[in-house]
Amino acid sequence: MTSLKCSDRYAVYRIWTDKFETQKVPFFVFTDRLKCLDSITFYHNMEIESGDWSKKNNGGIFELHCYALPDDLKEDTDIKIHLLKEMIHFFPELEGFNIKHEFFQHRHDFPAFHVGLHKDRPTVKTEVPGLFLAGDWVKMDNSTMLMEAAYTSGALAANEIFKLEQLRENQLESVAMKGIFG
Ligand SMILES: Cc1cc2nc3c(=O)[nH]c(=O)nc-3n(C[C@H](O)[C@H](O)[C@H](O)COP(=O)(O)OP(=O)(O)OC[C@H]3O[C@@H](n4cnc5c(N)ncnc54)[C@H](O)[C@@H]3O)c2cc1C
Repeated sequence: MTSLKCSDRYAVYRIWTDKFETQKVPFFVFTDRLKCLDSITFYHNMEIESGDWSKKNNGGIFELHCYALPDDLKEDTDIKIHLLKEMIHFFPELEGFNIKHEFFQHRHDFPAFHVGLHKDRPTVKTEVPGLFLAGDWVKMDNSTMLMEAAYTSGALAANEIFKLEQLRENQLESVAMKGIFG
């Protein structure tokens, strides 16, 4: 467990505003980062509760992501300024908007998965009876990643308990572990 590593720092900035984008785009888009903006989620187009807020307050809710912050972007204020500047670069029609609420996260807890790191990840089953692990850091022997892997590891951990309790296990389906060249 002690050999697990985090990947770079990341930032998530959600803002409640008084303007809307006018370009027709899907509710989640990847952006070609200038310095740090990797994606934008248009919450007002994606989620009922956000859509309700947006209609009532006549403004969009945007979430800006940077999945790996550059080393020279360390201060929260700088990160926010860069994310907003880049959003305006891609959606110039948002220029001049006001932020009514914000929720900002600058964290360093995302599991790194560089070459060689798989071998030391912990498994669902441990050597401690009755202790099972689930979530992002767990080694998987199926082709899942991110939320899908976190869910699958949880379902597998639950299966281990069901087995002990002689209860029916979750049925899990997966794509084949072998490709056309493998
Ligand atoms: C910016 C960003 C964007 C992402 N986008 C996507 C995406 O588009 N698609 C996708 O599939 N995945 C995405 N992911 C990955 C996805 O969020 C994770 O794979 C998933 O959330 C992992 O689930 P988890 O249950 O292992 O951990 P988490 O969702 O992190 O849950 C762990 C929980 O434990 C709590 N906790 C931590 N320590 C303690 C403690 N000591 N006591 C009590 N509680 C504690 C935390 O507060 C947290 O709520 C993204 C991740 C990031 C950072």
